[in-house]
Amino acid sequence: MKTRALDIYPSFRCLCGACPDTCCAGWDVEIDKQTREYYLRLEGPLGERAVGALQKEDGEWSFRLEGGRCPFLMDDGLCELQKTLGPGSVSRTCRLFPRTLADFGAVREVSLSIACPEAARLLLTHPDPLRMIEWDTDEPMGYTDADGDRYYLALSLRRRLISLAQDRSLPFPVRLSLCVCLAREAAARDRSGGDVSGVLARWDDPACVRLALRLGPFRPGKAPGRHRPYGAAHGPVGWTSGPDPGRFPGRALGRPGVRI
Ligand code: SF4
Repeated sequence: MKTRALDIYPSFRCLCGACPDTCCAGWDVEIDKQTREYYLRLEGPLGERAVGALQKEDGEWSFRLEGGRCPFLMDDGLCELQKTLGPGSVSRTCRLFPRTLADFGAVREVSLSIACPEAARLLLTHPDPLRMIEWDTDEPMGYTDADGDRYYLALSLRRRLISLAQDRSLPFPVRLSLCVCLAREAAARDRSGGDVSGVLARWDDPACVRLALRLGPFRPGKAPGRHRPYGAAHGPVGWTSGPDPGRFPGRALGRPGVRI
């Protein structure tokens, strides 16, 4: 199986007790069937506490939090179960976090959740443009019900978004706004059952991006009265007035009197 990830992925190491936060508080961590059965077989006081802390809510098992924290989170930030019984004694979610996995047939995409401060640090302090890396593993190919055409379309869209985001000739807020415009247009086209590849083809045309830059209210303070500041209408970035974001730039291309 092929595994694909951002190039920061292999550098991730959990900070354990040195973490400025913790992922063992504030949310219910699901205890998978295999781990629950392990706790039920476990003898001694720790096993009794693990079984006693189990709760079932909405069909899923988790540990009952104490003061919003996992009952096995110790004052030094370490996990009592893992420290006493080893890494295999905690649930799949605990072993994986902040890693996320998604299988698409012969390809597994792995990522890091930036809910983890160390993952966020790796991502935000990376000095160079991020790259995708791939490597082969012995893992058997997983089952997927993903639609192949949509998957390859999504890959093309992602490549285009990354190239827009990494175009360092433009200020970062502008790049981000362009990404939002493209994503919104592709999503709107997809929702209406239209041809998303047509959206991508148009955005591959540098003239289209130049036009978006000319027409888009990407700069704060531009034409006061006509354009509201960033975020006033549609969140932190993106369209602040003007054309329907779902249809730009297709409609704008047809606007009379606009030279690209
Ligand atoms: S939040 Fe991240 S660094 Fe902190 S304990 Fe959890 S996985 Fe480790």
